[in-house]
Amino acid sequence: MSIGTKTKCLICGHTFPNKSKFRPKEYCSDNCKDLSKFLHAFERNLYKVDFNEDYSNKLKSQLFLIANQIKCISKKAKK
Ligand SMILES: [Zn+2]
Repeated sequence: MSIGTKTKCLICGHTFPNKSKFRPKEYCSDNCKDLSKFLHAFERNLYKVDFNEDYSNKLKSQLFLIANQIKCISKKAKK
């Protein structure tokens, strides 16, 4: 990977120019970098939960409720 080559952000998929001759950045912005850190931490902690216990269905429902409250920009709405 050399300076000036295009890199694709692992979070949003935008391409951005590589500015390092060493290890290229994986994310286009601090926001995407923070989002990646948050997602990995969330995933790591979620795997520690024992979903075989009695409360697991309630917990999964709560996770879906939280996910459904996240506002996403629909590609269809942009047209
Ligand atoms: Zn990005």
